[in-house]
Amino acid sequence: MRDVEIAVIGAGIAGIATAYYLAVRHRRVRLLIVDMGPPMTLTSAQSGENYRNWWPHPVMTAFTDHSTGLMEDIARRTGNRINMTRRGYVLATREARPEALLRQLHAGYGAAANASIRVHDSTSSTTYRPPDSADWETAPGGVDVLLDRALIRQHYPAFDPEVATLLHIRRAGDISGQQLGQYMLEEIRAAGGRFLRGRVTAIGTHDRFTVETEADGVRETVRADLVVNAAGPFAAHVAALHGEDLPIVNVLQQKIAFPDKQAAISRRMPFAIDLDGQSIDWTADERDALAADPGVDWLLQPMPGGMHCRPDGGERGQWIKLGWAYNSKASEPTREPELDPNFPDVVLRGASRLLPALRAYIGRLPRERVHYGGYYPMTAENWPLVGRTRTPGMFVVGALSGYGTMSACAAGDLCARAVVGEAIPAFAQSLSLARYQDQQLMAELRSAKSRGVL
Ligand SMILES: Cc1cc2nc3c(=O)[nH]c(=O)nc-3n(C[C@H](O)[C@H](O)[C@H](O)COP(=O)(O)OP(=O)(O)OC[C@H]3O[C@@H](n4cnc5c(N)ncnc54)[C@H](O)[C@@H]3O)c2cc1C
Repeated sequence: MRDVEIAVIGAGIAGIATAYYLAVRHRRVRLLIVDMGPPMTLTSAQSGENYRNWWPHPVMTAFTDHSTGLMEDIARRTGNRINMTRRGYVLATREARPEALLRQLHAGYGAAANASIRVHDSTSSTTYRPPDSADWETAPGGVDVLLDRALIRQHYPAFDPEVATLLHIRRAGDISGQQLGQYMLEEIRAAGGRFLRGRVTAIGTHDRFTVETEADGVRETVRADLVVNAAGPFAAHVAALHGEDLPIVNVLQQKIAFPDKQAAISRRMPFAIDLDGQSIDWTADERDALAADPGVDWLLQPMPGGMHCRPDGGERGQWIKLGWAYNSKASEPTREPELDPNFPDVVLRGASRLLPALRAYIGRLPRERVHYGGYYPMTAENWPLVGRTRTPGMFVVGALSGYGTMSACAAGDLCARAVVGEAIPAFAQSLSLARYQDQQLMAELRSAKSRGVL
């Protein structure tokens, strides 16, 4: 039997980040991370690894800004071992003067909006500068709003010529989530924290916690004063082991990556998102075939916006990644989710609308292509759950949806503070289960037009 102060269930990026702040910042080193698989191999291995501070609500903006600051600290201290880049996110729409979108942009940056948002139209005297490198330390902050088609064409000639407005979110880019997890694990081990391979099968709450684990038929009991549930898509299952419900559902999302042998995408393109919904441009024969098959006829229906594309592997690389979180159906999580074989074709056709040069790959995707996916564990409002649960001594860091890589540092820091009883910043009060007591906030979130799902 092992006896520790803190057991963290889950060695994805959320559990590792929590353990890192507990061990390294708070010096709580009688700490054990338990996982049924090797660290960073479930959802955390499927991440697109992008980050952004663009959200429909200032609380989520503050949360990811806090996380980005912590990632920048690590990048600075380690000679950028986490490969942080910052070319931003460019969000494209064919709507000229999209008032609702611009209102949402202002709402998301809250009090900082006026100072952060720079508008460029045919009458303004401001200068828009696209990123001249991927360097996060010299990149600007704020947001550029391009309302001038000629300006958009000048800087983004590969985009659909119908694009009329472009938002360029500047505090955004990508990191290596695997390197971040690896670095944190090394620091946890150096501080004295340990890892145990095993599936948690039962949790007793009488007289401290009794966490029962099993690996290859070998059972082991871990006694702990405090437990952190960082079980990703299985967080609700783990909570059920000690008789608690968590309001989390899982939604499968997918991506593809392939070598851009035709150089369809500029290696300097920021992460690009098509905000507009679309009906896929099938040929007449394809439409007939889809209509005849009730399993796939939904592909003829209008699809939501949010298709995204970016070059992967830097300026000298060749790969690109495409994603589109169009699935909204919750499902029971498994370790190896069944992917939709239609996804690569669908996302490619969707992407070809914003980036017409990608049409060259329809029906001709390179054989080396990779199709992958995992679950977004989500609350209904798409906010995370970080902090105490109803069971005294039990904490949760989860429901990190499609933003767990970018927010892991903040989620880990906030959860670690909750565990040791240290004060948390004002914005973080509503990121725990406590927010469900705030009727006004919940009514606001339930009526929001966007939940920031990407
Ligand atoms: C396709 C896709 C693209 C994404 N793109 C991005 C992106 O661009 N940017 C971004 O920020 N985020 C992105 N995300 C989200 C991000 O990957 C996740 O939010 C993050 O990895 C979640 O980390 P986690 O530690 O909560 O979960 P996980 O990585 O799933 O870790 C949970 C761990 O708990 C363990 N566990 C569960 N139950 C038990 C048990 N009973 N006993 C022992 N161990 C258990 C599991 O084995 C697992 O290792 C994406 C997600 C997907 C699916």
